[in-house]
Amino acid sequence: AFALTGCSSSARGGDSGAGGSSTAKGFAADAKIGVALPDKTSENWVLAGKLFTDGLTKAGFKPDVQYAPASNTVAEQQNQISAMVTGGAKVIIIGAKDGKQLSTQVKAAHDAGATVIAYDRLIENTDAVGYYVAFDNFKVGQLQGQALLDGLAKRAGHAAPYNIELFSGSADDANSAVFFKGAMDVLQSKIKDGTLKVVSGQTEITQTATDGWKAENAQRRMDAILTANYSSANLDGVLSPNDTLARAIITSAQQAGKKVPVVTGQDSEVESVKSIMEGVQYSTINKDTTLLVAQAIKMAQELQKGSTVDVNDTKSYNNGVKVVPSYLLAPVIVTKDNAADAYANVPNLLDIVKSYSK
Ligand code: BGC
Repeated sequence: AFALTGCSSSARGGDSGAGGSSTAKGFAADAKIGVALPDKTSENWVLAGKLFTDGLTKAGFKPDVQYAPASNTVAEQQNQISAMVTGGAKVIIIGAKDGKQLSTQVKAAHDAGATVIAYDRLIENTDAVGYYVAFDNFKVGQLQGQALLDGLAKRAGHAAPYNIELFSGSADDANSAVFFKGAMDVLQSKIKDGTLKVVSGQTEITQTATDGWKAENAQRRMDAILTANYSSANLDGVLSPNDTLARAIITSAQQAGKKVPVVTGQDSEVESVKSIMEGVQYSTINKDTTLLVAQAIKMAQELQKGSTVDVNDTKSYNNGVKVVPSYLLAPVIVTKDNAADAYANVPNLLDIVKSYSK
């Protein structure tokens, strides 16, 4: 289970890899820093690439930012990481396409003296990953579960029981299970006591997963569920793990001629923020990419100086081999009601919110 509270502690820079045998000496202030990002399935990944290039350059480093291409993604990301190791990168920041398939490359990086930071997604089954920097994924799930309950009470137009369906993310992303566990931490008891009814009966993560986090896969599953289970019943709500999938689920309901259910989301994508302000999508999560990238760059700077790497959680993220020292940021739930506050520091989204309030 995921601990909700991390204790404050720290780990010595460069000292956190396999066996803890390397020493924390720091490295050249203009060193190469590799950044390997997965495919561009969400706006946050696209933005991260730009922020890393700009931020690392500004910090004096030589950034090498790569995206895995849309096809053959895992193999390409493995190659990109290997090339960063060969090219002498001192820190390699990785948003994993498949966190279970990078152990060879991460070990090679560690053996070459580079520190690997898992960015947003945990890298599993290797002791060679140094740190993890992410928003608190379990908390994201809990916020989504609670938003679904709140939204149903506000918008379903009738008292419980409510008919719902559950979606989760791609099975190759370690986050998917954590988001789902967090949401079920809130929803499970309500399913058990009959407040919520999952009409399709699909409550296992193997049934709810969305391969590759692809919109078309969520839409296809929603279509099939509606056809099979909702010819006469109403669908009141859907747990969606992110905005891209939320919009696909909403499209499916609309095309089936159904009233739009209460749908959760994550990432604060522009189209979803608009949809929320228009009263269609119910909620999203603000995980400010600017803050997450800044935290990862701060880690790289601490490693460069050979100083202590700031972490705030040393309990939650066991990757199968070790608990990876983590810096977790706090996600924020966003609905129409609090959008102006939630985006107070995100200018482009705040502008959108303001454009809806005359
Ligand atoms: C990220 C989410 C994102 C999803 C799909 C996850 O690992 O944490 O923010 O929506 O990947 O790209």
